[in-house]
Amino acid sequence: MNQLVEKIIVLGGGSAGFLAAITMKKRMPHLNVSVIHSSKIPIIGVGEGTTFTMPQYLHGYLGLNPGAFHQLVRPTYKLGIRFLWGPRERFHYTFKAQLDGRLANLPKANGFYCMDDFRYTELNASLMENDKGFERQSDGGPMVNTDVAYHLENAPFVEFLEKAAREVGVLIIDDEVKGVDVGEEGISTLHLESGGSESADLYIDCSGFRSELLGKALDEPFIDYSSSLFCDRAIAGGWERSDEVLKPYTTAETMDAGWAWQIEHDHLINRGYVFSSSFLSDDEAEAEFKKKNPKIEDPRLIKFTSGAYERNWVKNVVALGNASGFVEPLEATSLAVTCEHAAKLVQTLADSDMRIHPVSRRYYNHLSKVTWDAIRRFLAMHYKFNTRLDTPFWKACHEDTNLAGADEIMEYYQSSGPGLMWSTYAMGANDPFGWEGYLVMLVGQKVKHEANYQAGENEKMIFEQYRNSLKRRSENALTMRESLDMIRSNKWQWKPDFYPNASPWGS
Ligand SMILES: Cc1cc2nc3c(=O)[nH]c(=O)nc-3n(C[C@H](O)[C@H](O)[C@H](O)COP(=O)(O)OP(=O)(O)OC[C@H]3O[C@@H](n4cnc5c(N)ncnc54)[C@H](O)[C@@H]3O)c2cc1C
Repeated sequence: MNQLVEKIIVLGGGSAGFLAAITMKKRMPHLNVSVIHSSKIPIIGVGEGTTFTMPQYLHGYLGLNPGAFHQLVRPTYKLGIRFLWGPRERFHYTFKAQLDGRLANLPKANGFYCMDDFRYTELNASLMENDKGFERQSDGGPMVNTDVAYHLENAPFVEFLEKAAREVGVLIIDDEVKGVDVGEEGISTLHLESGGSESADLYIDCSGFRSELLGKALDEPFIDYSSSLFCDRAIAGGWERSDEVLKPYTTAETMDAGWAWQIEHDHLINRGYVFSSSFLSDDEAEAEFKKKNPKIEDPRLIKFTSGAYERNWVKNVVALGNASGFVEPLEATSLAVTCEHAAKLVQTLADSDMRIHPVSRRYYNHLSKVTWDAIRRFLAMHYKFNTRLDTPFWKACHEDTNLAGADEIMEYYQSSGPGLMWSTYAMGANDPFGWEGYLVMLVGQKVKHEANYQAGENEKMIFEQYRNSLKRRSENALTMRESLDMIRSNKWQWKPDFYPNASPWGS
């Protein structure tokens, strides 16, 4: 077909829609880009944790000013996830290597020294251990790095993105798509409630779970991941922060039939219980959730199915955000997937001089399938090995979770322990979590392996000295509140090249 792309319509004005529109217009200013969204169909209102790629994506790749962002959206920084999971009291998942490495003067990889004590293995994990934000610079300010993520409230984030989209020249239409004409080459026309109609060369479906174009109009099959991920509901709520410490991480806490997040906003604490309706009724879930969080008054229920559309790019429709797939939020990856795929889409168009080649579409679909499958298998592993509770839900997770491709990775770990030799082979290409992610979850949950290495006293002492130096550094650091106060003050200056003008995923 080799359709020339000059005009793009994005359907949907949630975070996915505006991120997609800004990406297209910023990176290809000659394109004609419109967003159609309906203020009568609300945005989802959740999606608060990100990964470390988000700050660079927003401020480097898209060039959106970090100072203005902090003033309007008031994000807090997320150094990682605190897991209340498995037999340890807690462990920390960060965006830096804790276990996928080896100290220069030790014979074995870090994981071999962390089966008993898995603390203070990397700076951000150490800061999290002490509820600290950033180390101090010589001028007393926070040493912000690019290896941290954001906690964002969905509504102000979308408001910021909408404003940014207007400023770069995206046309925004508030109207509802009521009908769609489909032809040989995909979508030909969108019919609007106001009576008008709109057409484009390429449509980006960001209509959320409704998946109006990819799912409904083009009828692309949806691959259900429920044999690996049993949860299908979330109950969410929050309360105004009073004297609670502003924690520098998301908490993921094991619950009777799932898990609960705690996300730290500036003035709010946001909690959500992700659970399986096969094991708990909505009322029972609400009762368990409220017992743990007595300050929550009116929690709201969200239903979802973990899974993804078989292909994310069909004919002249590419879906992004929840319209393309959604794998439950345990590692808060959705926004990162949206950004990565938007960047890959715009680069594909740039490389092909704005023409759609079937082979580009096939490669893109291969990438999106690999991404969704990688998230599925990684999360499945979280459930399969979490021995913290022995309720019917968790028993079923231990016995019946389909690891969906993580089986061989597990075989490698269980036979060789937290070594590093074959990790690249075990992971395959394009796994967003890498061997580091697996090691943190496996060592974190104390999953047994057969590599019975006994470290000598000298080795233990060297590792302990390393830990102690990180512990001391973290104890002297600023809290997250102190850090944010300085970042938001008039004195704070962002260096122009602090975030590189490049996609966090390469070209
Ligand atoms: C419980 C839960 C927790 C989550 N937590 C996280 C997290 O921590 N981190 C993360 O990255 N992601 C998370 N997500 C995913 C997150 O919600 C999405 O990544 C993000 O909010 C993007 O949403 P969206 O833009 O795809 O959809 P939405 O916000 O639902 O936006 C859909 C848009 O489409 C428009 N629309 C739909 N149909 C029509 C129509 N016919 N005509 C006109 N307009 C239409 C609507 O008006 C709206 O503007 C979570 C999701 C759930 C369910």
